[in-house]
Amino acid sequence: MTQSAYIHIPFCLNKCNYCSFVSYDCFQKSDIENYVQILLKEIDYYYKNEHLKTLYLGGGTPSLLDTDSLKKIIDKFYFENNAEITIEVNPETVDFDYLLKLKKLGFNRVSIGVQTFNDNILKIIGRVHDSKTAIDTVDSAQKVGFENISTDFIYGLPNQTLNDFLKDLETAVKTGVEHISLYGLKIEENCKFYKSLPKNLPNDDCQADMYLAAIDFLQSKGYKHYEISNFCKDGKFSRHNLNYWKCGEYYGFGVSAHGYTDGCRYANFSDLKKYIQNFFEKESMHMMDKKEKLEETIFLGLRCCEGINIQQINKTFDIDFEKAYKNVLEKYLNTGHIIKTDSGYAFSKKGFLLSNIILADFL
Ligand code: SF4
Repeated sequence: MTQSAYIHIPFCLNKCNYCSFVSYDCFQKSDIENYVQILLKEIDYYYKNEHLKTLYLGGGTPSLLDTDSLKKIIDKFYFENNAEITIEVNPETVDFDYLLKLKKLGFNRVSIGVQTFNDNILKIIGRVHDSKTAIDTVDSAQKVGFENISTDFIYGLPNQTLNDFLKDLETAVKTGVEHISLYGLKIEENCKFYKSLPKNLPNDDCQADMYLAAIDFLQSKGYKHYEISNFCKDGKFSRHNLNYWKCGEYYGFGVSAHGYTDGCRYANFSDLKKYIQNFFEKESMHMMDKKEKLEETIFLGLRCCEGINIQQINKTFDIDFEKAYKNVLEKYLNTGHIIKTDSGYAFSKKGFLLSNIILADFL
């Protein structure tokens, strides 16, 4: 049964220089209204009225939608008691009243795109907000009564030193947010930085130092490192994302959204025009076979700090995992990139740094 849904809202006030997501910064109010109408039709077409455990509005900038539109979207779904209902917000688009309305609509988790509290770096990377607006947004969200607030940060930004990054995290911790996500800057082909590389980019070693220092720092402040890029306190992990990492099914609605239902992984059209014309069609669909499901279970499971559970894998896939992956396990146990846990295997801290290479070895 599919009990999670992701909805993509592809509009932003400005295209950030590092951004390679599907988002458009040139639009009219009517474009958003049309988009919402199509989205509602797509939900009507595919959603089978299951009671959702999690709903996640991401983007883009979902907080560019007015609360009437958000109400129309949220009203399409049934929810389990205590469902996690998240909306990504960008500081420049929200104020206390808007956040209050979000709370009244039923959103119980906000994910704030902070990226850094350093105003110079914010300008270099093309963000619209400044650090004060970001701090005010966290403050307003707390005053409104949100008890599950996440903040996103990027490390390895132009001009950023290890100390700058740790200062960002110190500020985040001081605000008392329950959840922190950290992403290393990656300059992908279709972003502005790719065409014009910024000066003073920290190198890979420096990025690695930032990542390792962040783990130590956040853990010392009571945040649990539960996934390669994610930390939380008071058990406030992202239930929506955990469903992805546990290979759970989920709907994907909106342009470029990916979904996984009835054993089929699919992607909506990533071009806005095509999506609007063919919202009931998929750009790609793929029925997962047993081998692919096993590889995903390993791939996604190892992203989580608790790692993979061998008994479960052996039972689900009718294999002897340790025999099947003897060579790769031995290789990385010897180098200390993988560690044995009570129930299976997990990455060590230095294993996370090489996760892409190691995971490729499992495939
Ligand atoms: S706010 Fe997010 S989605 Fe929008 S342009 Fe910036 S990075 Fe991309």
